[in-house]
Amino acid sequence: MDIKLVDTVAQYHEIKAEVDASIMDLLEKGQYIGGAAVKQFEAELGAYLNVKHVIACANGTDALQVALMGMGVEPGDEILTPSFTYIATIEVIALLGLKPVFVEVCPETFGLDIHDLKAKITPKTKGIIPVHLYGHSADMYSILKIARENGLFVIEDNAQAIGGEVTFLDGSVYKTGTLGDIGCTSFYPSKNLGAYGDGGAIFTQDDFLAEKIRMICNHGQKVRYHHESIGVNSRLDAIQAAILSVKLKHLDRYNASRSQASLYYNQCLKDVEGIKTPFVAPTVKHVYHQYTLRITKGRAKRDAVKSILDKKGIPNMIYYPIPSHLQTAYLAYGYKEGDLPITERLTGEVLSLPMHSELTYSQIEYICHHFIEAMRETN
Ligand SMILES: *Cc1c(COP(=O)(O)O)cnc(C)c1O
Repeated sequence: MDIKLVDTVAQYHEIKAEVDASIMDLLEKGQYIGGAAVKQFEAELGAYLNVKHVIACANGTDALQVALMGMGVEPGDEILTPSFTYIATIEVIALLGLKPVFVEVCPETFGLDIHDLKAKITPKTKGIIPVHLYGHSADMYSILKIARENGLFVIEDNAQAIGGEVTFLDGSVYKTGTLGDIGCTSFYPSKNLGAYGDGGAIFTQDDFLAEKIRMICNHGQKVRYHHESIGVNSRLDAIQAAILSVKLKHLDRYNASRSQASLYYNQCLKDVEGIKTPFVAPTVKHVYHQYTLRITKGRAKRDAVKSILDKKGIPNMIYYPIPSHLQTAYLAYGYKEGDLPITERLTGEVLSLPMHSELTYSQIEYICHHFIEAMRETN
């Protein structure tokens, strides 16, 4: 059976006429960077997220870097962030001369652990970057409360959770990425809202921040050749914007398909011992960027299961095998093995199975059949 970890081509075929027409239209207009298509997509995404400002940029990593620059950070400032994340979150902190302070995650949601977050605040702490890993929101209610009490900013790394939601105690519902001072996302092709190339965006409700961020993305200028601050060059191609405008209309449907696929997985795997299927907090709408299991016996068993699946041609992946605090490039921050035991344990337990909007029930049955066999064989 031909199963893909991510199937961007099948998804394209389903909306091909619409996408092709929008690209052709754009080619004729001749405005390939910025312009009406980018403006239109920013407005549409803002309306979808119910956020006042959307600033498109070149990729999700840039979005995070520009967001930090927008908060006016200075070298030596401490940023609280999970170690259990894609390296981009950490990289931008380091590139700006800031100090990443690694916080444990909750082993159920993979979001920042609130107790550890509080414990790691120092007089140098300036901000928090929670990551909504795999498409499940971090505990934003508690994170925002801690931020408010301690005068910290919050930049949400929403690269894996676009379309996700959080419901607060008073019943109000918010899209992930719109709760902190700034939200960042990526349109990398395999993301839930993926372009056909690179792309990213920054969201904020704050007029002043929005203006500053737009300026930073454009070499620090509001008026051409008048550079008020040191900026970067980070912009979304107009072709990608036109594609994203088409795909945004389908995002809820894509996320619903992912959610349906997760239910099939849960059903097929419900009697398997030694695993934990994804947890969903009752206040969270999970958008399943990944369907990530935990194999609770740990690394040796997880790796053995993985290698059997690899041999059988069942796509699977470990996001992420090495925690950020133990990556060679970041050892200078002084962390060592044992500093974040939960994070270190999780990197040995997680295994992601295929997840995309085109996955069928029979494919999921087939994947689970082989997964269950691999679990049994490795006993
Ligand atoms: C994909 C991703 C990014 C970076 O996005 P790019 O567009 O690849 O630069 C950042 N953080 C997380 C959690 C991601 O998954």
